[in-house]
Amino acid sequence: MRYHSTRGAAPSLGFRDVTLAGLASDGGLYVPDTWPSLTREQIAGLAGLSYVETAVRVMLPFVEGDLSEDELRDLCSQAYGRFSHAAVTPLVQLDAQHWLLELFHGPTLAFKDVALQLLGLLFEKFLAGSGDHLTIVGATSGDTGSAAIDAVAGRAGIDIFMLHPKGRVSDVQRRQMTTVLAPNVHNIAIEGSFDDAQALVKAMFNDSGFAGRFQVTAVNSINWARLMAQVVYYFYAAVRLGAPEREVAFAVPTGNFGDVFAGYVAAKMGLPVAKLIVATNVNDILHRALSSGDYSTGSVTPTAAPSMDIQVSSNFERLLFDLAGSDVGEQMRGFERARAMRLSNAQREGAAALFASDRIEPDDMNGAMRWAFAESGEVLDPHTAIGLAAARRAGLPPEVPVVTLATAHPAKFRDAVERATGQRPSVPARLGDLFERQERYDVLPATFEAVTAYIAERATPKR
Ligand SMILES: *Cc1c(COP(=O)(O)O)cnc(C)c1O
Repeated sequence: MRYHSTRGAAPSLGFRDVTLAGLASDGGLYVPDTWPSLTREQIAGLAGLSYVETAVRVMLPFVEGDLSEDELRDLCSQAYGRFSHAAVTPLVQLDAQHWLLELFHGPTLAFKDVALQLLGLLFEKFLAGSGDHLTIVGATSGDTGSAAIDAVAGRAGIDIFMLHPKGRVSDVQRRQMTTVLAPNVHNIAIEGSFDDAQALVKAMFNDSGFAGRFQVTAVNSINWARLMAQVVYYFYAAVRLGAPEREVAFAVPTGNFGDVFAGYVAAKMGLPVAKLIVATNVNDILHRALSSGDYSTGSVTPTAAPSMDIQVSSNFERLLFDLAGSDVGEQMRGFERARAMRLSNAQREGAAALFASDRIEPDDMNGAMRWAFAESGEVLDPHTAIGLAAARRAGLPPEVPVVTLATAHPAKFRDAVERATGQRPSVPARLGDLFERQERYDVLPATFEAVTAYIAERATPKR
């Protein structure tokens, strides 16, 4: 498969190079030249397959040319072998219509492990024998950082620099990053918001001086390989609920628009998706964009669901591009200047055909946590609760199963869960002595100069 940039001015690349590059050199995001499709028979044939086999069938067209089917299967077996549930992403029924798709059984307890465990292995495979050295630079609102660090800690040829907004990630999230003491792991607490951290990362990628000196890459969901890995569980879940005979809807707690965009890709590939419900918290740029065409940033309000506390959703560019039918370089550069834009009619109408959206207030988030516990004894994390609240008021016909993506284990957000439900989730044994371990991180101001100087001192330059 070949890939091209949403902004139309970067070279076309194959899967290996797209994976190592992350962001395109014109500031855009890579998307595949065509959407591969699975026939009804092929989708029906996924029934009863293991997660790994499903992953191989869904992802193979995207890696063609760079990985054989056996290589892909081997990487998937390794990545998903580290999950603590035999089904990898099990479905749990809440009531006659509502289901949870539990995506948090990986090593760091959030759905980001599903993609990042594979991405770490892809990096290692693609670097092996090349003598190249990769410098991963990422911004995290909590979960990407811990999942990425777990995926690459101690791997040869890779350094990871992870920026998190100081004081705005939960204690479990911070410790999952800062207690990894492998010498190739560098944690930076930025004095600012997640958006400040993400803007710094974008600036580093766009700075030819910095990007020219180091082989920098991204592990944020701007990296295509991450989205690709997430497409798998939409198929896996829908087939278990009756696809392709029956349409299934998904409610997705959304921040950077990566997870829900993977659902869009699944629909493009032929999965019968009734609706993709984009659930936001009070940081609702996506809800405003999808409901009224107004994509304009405000300031970030910290909430109990910090992984959704963002105002700029990087992956939205991929949807705008797919719906526009032409490159969106001009539109996105205009947005970056004005911090605001209007969707075109084609973009609005195209999005409305598949997407619904909702903004969930804290009371409704807490209400969803209490409902799930009372109804079925399930303890939800705040992000998942936002998804479920949106799912329950989306008004879908009763015969359509609605799957809420359970994006984090409740133990990652123990205080918020306890406040809402009175239940204090215990930290799963696989995290071990997280609270006794030594932490290591540095605090830096949110300036380009400070962060690039810090990285330049520690990273390995290109040969
Ligand atoms: C990252 C994250 C999200 C948001 O996912 P996006 O792909 O950025 O939209 C939601 N919930 C949790 C727990 C997360 O870690």
